[in-house]
Amino acid sequence: MSLAKCRSCEKEVSTTARQCPHCGRPSPSTSPWTMIIIYILTVVIMGFVFLMLL
Ligand SMILES: [Zn+2]
Repeated sequence: MSLAKCRSCEKEVSTTARQCPHCGRPSPSTSPWTMIIIYILTVVIMGFVFLMLL
């Protein structure tokens, strides 16, 4: 378990924390890029599933 800074309140939170214990922000240590990559992967996978069904 390691610590990272909350992107909202700048306090230290666990990297495994789903929510900041100080300000309540969800995924406090997750960078915006991670969220963008997850979003793109989801769209690509959904596209493949759609093509398979045709
Ligand atoms: Zn916070």
